[in-house]
Amino acid sequence: MFEALVTEKDYKKIPSKCILTRGIKVKMSEVAVPVSYAAAFEGERVRREQLHVEFGGKASTAFEYLTAKSKEDEVEDGKFELIGPDIDQLPATSKSLPLAIIVDVYGRKMQKDFEPVLERQIHRFMNYAMGIMHVGQRDMKWVRISKDAFEKGFRLKHVGVILHAMLHQEYSAIVDKIQVKLYTKQEDIDKLLVAAKKTYEERDERISGMSDESVDTYYSCLLCQSFAPNHVCIVTPERLGLCGAYSWLDAKASFEITPTGPNQPILKGRTVDQRLGQWDNVNDFVKQRSNKTIDKVSMYSLMDSPQSSCGCFECIVAIIPEANGVMVVHRDYSGITPCGMSFTTLAGSVGGGVQTPGFLGVGKLYILSKKFILAEGGLKRLVWMPKELKELLGDKLRKCCQESGQPDLWDKIADETVATTSEELISFLTKVGHPALEMEALV
Ligand code: SF4
Ligand code: ZN
Repeated sequence: MFEALVTEKDYKKIPSKCILTRGIKVKMSEVAVPVSYAAAFEGERVRREQLHVEFGGKASTAFEYLTAKSKEDEVEDGKFELIGPDIDQLPATSKSLPLAIIVDVYGRKMQKDFEPVLERQIHRFMNYAMGIMHVGQRDMKWVRISKDAFEKGFRLKHVGVILHAMLHQEYSAIVDKIQVKLYTKQEDIDKLLVAAKKTYEERDERISGMSDESVDTYYSCLLCQSFAPNHVCIVTPERLGLCGAYSWLDAKASFEITPTGPNQPILKGRTVDQRLGQWDNVNDFVKQRSNKTIDKVSMYSLMDSPQSSCGCFECIVAIIPEANGVMVVHRDYSGITPCGMSFTTLAGSVGGGVQTPGFLGVGKLYILSKKFILAEGGLKRLVWMPKELKELLGDKLRKCCQESGQPDLWDKIADETVATTSEELISFLTKVGHPALEMEALV
């Protein structure tokens, strides 16, 4: 239903007002960028030799943040601003810049709950451009632009062109206007990141009171099938998607926006195994959508039919048999871990959409979940994690440790300052009396 009578005295605003009032949806037919643009380029990597510039990862601070504005005149459709140097003005010896991508949208049908869903699409839309690589999300992202793309004329304004065109194209049902701002000066980024982080926290908070038992429906995510064709994420209130970008609420919102999209509701059905976290409808769904490569999936187990991993996991959980426990490592940790491998090496053997008992890609918030590898005994199995990750999870992790029935567990979890080999790890665990050493054998 649209208003019968609308007035607009500013003649410059009349066309956009008319479009909006009549409910006319803007569809962009082509994305006007100087490089090829298609879903086929999604899995493409930009290697160091081909690198023109990178943002985030280990190189600099980078984040992306999409919000809905409540007033129509707060958003000017198609507007793009770059505040700071472009990629043809790089400092002489540097191949990186900090980056904030700020997207404001307005839509009559837009809801606050839809924000994280739209924000997650930045990843996909940027990856569609040839020579542009986008990994991760929120303030854990990493973008690379290749020399080829740069030489063809790709500049930061094209990020605006892509996001504007694609959000209109795919989300016209909820979005009417889109404006994009990019910042490449550290002082701006530091300021803007404060607000963004607060919102990320609020989004995480909304789900933290919910349990798997409190719902009868979980959601799938099939978004990563474009590069891991058999991979299915099952998203439950207590276990988010392994990229960290899809909570159960986000998947639910995404289904409302696109009922035929990658996030489908799955009525759990009969419980097959409560300890492992298996339900018959979930198993059936996974079997069907993994192209019959995966028969069953345990939501709470690392060892018995664990979920498969695509490639975008925030963290990897890996078994350390000698310690009768598990370690967890996040993407930003570049050192060696006590299982003898770095994150990158581990990632190579975990990804691709196959089940690998003993190894699991997870979103970092799953570590704080009451359902974290519950079948193997939960958090008490955790023997090692990088210091940075421990600090990142901070007080929330301390609280979970206390609730695990082991009040001093936090101090007993080793990090790289005390152990980077399994021998060092065992000697530390023995010294502090880590509970994993006394638990039932993992293998
Ligand atoms: Fe969806 Fe899982 Fe891919 Fe995240 S990792 S986008 S939840 S399929
Ligand atoms: Zn993925």
